[in-house]
Amino acid sequence: MAEIQKLPDNIANQIAAGEVVQRPASIVKELLENAIDSGADRIELRLKAGGIALVSVLDNGSGIEPDELALAFERHATSKLRSADDLFNLSTKGFRGEALASIAAVADVHMVSKREGLTNAFQIKFRGGKSEGVEETAFSTGTSVSVNHLFYSIPARKNFLKSESVELRHCLDEFQRVALLHEEIHFQCHHNDALVYDLPKSTRRQRIVHLFGTKYAERLVPVQEKTERFVLSGFILKPEYARKTRGEQFFFVNKRFVRSPYLHRAVVEAFEGLLLSGYHPGYFIEVDIEKAAIDVNIHPTKTEIKIDDEYHVFSVLRAAIRHSLGRYQINAPIDFDLNPALNPSYKQSISEAKFPKISVSSTYNPFQNETFEKTDFSEVYIETEAEQIRLDQQIDQQEALLQLDGVMLLQWDSKFIVIPQADKLLVVDQYRAHHRILYESLLKKMTVDQAGSQQLLFPESLSLDTHEIELLKEIGTTLMDLGFDYEIQERVIVLKGVPEFFPLNEASKVFKHFIEETHLAEDEISLSTVDLVAQVLAKHSAIKKGVALNQEAMTQLLEDLARCKEPYISPSNKRIFVSIPVADIIQKLH
Ligand code: ADP
Ligand code: MG
Repeated sequence: MAEIQKLPDNIANQIAAGEVVQRPASIVKELLENAIDSGADRIELRLKAGGIALVSVLDNGSGIEPDELALAFERHATSKLRSADDLFNLSTKGFRGEALASIAAVADVHMVSKREGLTNAFQIKFRGGKSEGVEETAFSTGTSVSVNHLFYSIPARKNFLKSESVELRHCLDEFQRVALLHEEIHFQCHHNDALVYDLPKSTRRQRIVHLFGTKYAERLVPVQEKTERFVLSGFILKPEYARKTRGEQFFFVNKRFVRSPYLHRAVVEAFEGLLLSGYHPGYFIEVDIEKAAIDVNIHPTKTEIKIDDEYHVFSVLRAAIRHSLGRYQINAPIDFDLNPALNPSYKQSISEAKFPKISVSSTYNPFQNETFEKTDFSEVYIETEAEQIRLDQQIDQQEALLQLDGVMLLQWDSKFIVIPQADKLLVVDQYRAHHRILYESLLKKMTVDQAGSQQLLFPESLSLDTHEIELLKEIGTTLMDLGFDYEIQERVIVLKGVPEFFPLNEASKVFKHFIEETHLAEDEISLSTVDLVAQVLAKHSAIKKGVALNQEAMTQLLEDLARCKEPYISPSNKRIFVSIPVADIIQKLH
């Protein structure tokens, strides 16, 4: 047997690189993560030939100390992990200190970096796994890493690479995952010198829209939930945009993209009954959980994750998605002004298309006479069920509620508005209608317009019980974000400011009401704080039963209702209006 020898470093690195660098996309991921860890707010990715010829990442982050440039390429050299304890408390993406060493073992690398505060920049080049030394050069603050000719000296690995377009797709997948999570960073991505993505700093929703197209603006439904141990947030795609291929399915746990068949099942279960078989739901879900509750270390490329108490996350996720599907009524985008008629209902989009039935008269002779016979068009089409729903909606919503000119509205019993129609009476519950209108407008103000705060002239004190105080602490950050300002002093809170849309003269009364409602809704884990604020405030301000309305007020109310995303059901899930067909009345008269 041959003598035992230690492998030379460059060979050991090549072997280790097999774990880290499988294809150009692996390099994209590592370099982007390093750029993010450096604190950059601008990152540019350049690819050539699907990343096989070049992957380069430029950032405006902290840069690297000149005497640490070479060290960064040593195996297990990292500035991010100091002790074994840190492993359970990671806030950076990297920590193994293997990426740069592995990449330099299987490709040519050129790194240029200028440390914040230093006047000079330095560069280091690696060829054939060997360093060519550190040199001074000119460069702006930040770091640029270019990786050329992946696997050029390892034909066996190079042969495993797929076509340029397949490798490009993998690179773009990695780019998307990173860009989705970091809307606070301006990203650009070029392929063969063409700009593929330019993603300015934005909100999470806008980032999704920038990455996947403007159509997504109307497809996203927010999901939000908070428990003691974790926070869920993100978006699902409305069921009618589910796809036959697995489309956009993203889970992020503590700012890392992860694959989790288990959590995926939670989403699928939440969509149960809403998707045809063979269709997959789309989602962008982020979970933020105590760092100590997860172990990211179980897989070298770090897309698998182990969460303690996974079942808890599973059930909360499922409940939160079900809630969002119900709350936003599936076809009601809450913050985009769409024509409701252009926004097909779920029922409509899943029913199968039917061919119109055409009846042809066998005796018809086109040459027989010059005058057209009157055609009965009702013969030409048979209405599909979906068509019927759409027609009903249009008639109810647009004709009845929007064309009120000359219609004599009747307020009945100080509770209902009666709209006479040719073939029916529509009866609208005035309180529920107004509740719906206010709720939608408040939700929009809170989630889209980001309303400001107003200070009370005289701060008001409220006494709450200990449980209510605890509750308030739990949802404190959301309330502050909405524009509430208060101080907690043992059993008393001093209310100092409220959101702009809050009634100033009744601020403390409504606030107290809100805390009580939150208390009641506590077991219903699926209600988000924003929702609750909107619900309570809307309920509080909606015109009550027993209030007399004149023609003008009734007209306004009905028009506002027609413009709602969900004019049929009140925020407390009750029907807002009923239609009494004339046929019913005739029958009663018999
Ligand atoms: P890790 O990210 O796991 O620490 P890497 O091999 O990816 O290991 O990087 C090694 C070290 O090089 C990092 O810990 C960091 O200090 C430094 N580094 C790498 N890329 C950058 C960058 N773009 N900006 C600043 N420092 C960097
Ligand atoms: Mg790294």
